[in-house]
Amino acid sequence: MFTLTATDGNARRGTLHLAHGDVETPCFMPVGTAATVKGLTPGELREAHAQIVLANTYHLWLRPGLATIEAAGGLHRFMAWDRPILTDSGGFQVFSLESRRKLDAGGVTFRSHIDGSEHRFTPENVLAFQESIGVDVAMVLDVCVKLPASQAQLDEAVRLTTDWARRTRAAQRAERTAVFAIVQGGLDPELRARSARELVELDFPGYAIGGLSVGETRDEMYATARSTAERLPAHKPRYLMGVGTVRDLIAAVDCGIDMFDCVYPTRCGRNGRAMTRAGEFNLFNAAFVNDFAPVDATCGCSVCATFTRAYLAHLFRAKEMLAPRLLSYHNVYLLTELMREARESIVAGGWSAFRQEFMRA
Ligand SMILES: [Zn+2]
Repeated sequence: MFTLTATDGNARRGTLHLAHGDVETPCFMPVGTAATVKGLTPGELREAHAQIVLANTYHLWLRPGLATIEAAGGLHRFMAWDRPILTDSGGFQVFSLESRRKLDAGGVTFRSHIDGSEHRFTPENVLAFQESIGVDVAMVLDVCVKLPASQAQLDEAVRLTTDWARRTRAAQRAERTAVFAIVQGGLDPELRARSARELVELDFPGYAIGGLSVGETRDEMYATARSTAERLPAHKPRYLMGVGTVRDLIAAVDCGIDMFDCVYPTRCGRNGRAMTRAGEFNLFNAAFVNDFAPVDATCGCSVCATFTRAYLAHLFRAKEMLAPRLLSYHNVYLLTELMREARESIVAGGWSAFRQEFMRA
């Protein structure tokens, strides 16, 4: 299901063949936690060259729930998105909703953040949920630990993650849903290596690197991503979870990663933070009140072709609902375009020059 077509250094150019179409890699996947990429319609996402979007098992399980999505004819029909969808498993919520969950060897019990009701997640039922709603890529339920963590905590997270991956592999039913395992192990290279080795033995069609972007420094994250990627099979896709700034994407492609997701571009979009090739700026800053340049003069998106920084700055100050929509669109477009250019440069053998040009800017 993955064709590796070119490499340049560690950077890789490939194609992921999924039930709802091909995804060219490296690729950025916008996050639609609750079956919507906040503020953007499916048409706008297509126009912004999003090839695949994320949704989240934990959130969709609680609301609207399996019955509604099944009655709609699956998640694609429910959210009117006909390109591939990847769902995260709820493993990240083991980390982010620490006060609302109990972890044991069999699974996780969450207390809903909506109404306090209890929900039991196991490797088997989390997979069954993702298969039932018809996603293209399902993630195994894993144990994501907040850093810094003790050696004992990290050991236990890796042990459970492998055990749950084995149970997930045994429970697989739907052919059209590709299941990816998630490597854990914090910043400990030996533990990461062990996690990768145990999961590779289980022969999943793809591998994610989880448990990063959770409190460590950037250099620690890059070092761990690089050493972990080296231990994953070259002929299978590699997905670094939770990464989404321009600088991090470029660094991670250079580590040999193929897929990324992050709420960052849409969260920034809602808060007035513009992402550009040359860095980020806040549209609430007084400097932009009379700045009639586009958000990013080098960007080919319809927002940059149509509106000025001054207009967006005005919309944000006036709390107009168009403001977060326009800036989210631009920020997402910037990252999909960045990945398109990365793909071209890898094929042309110009990755190193491309990367250096960005790091200078
Ligand atoms: Zn733009």
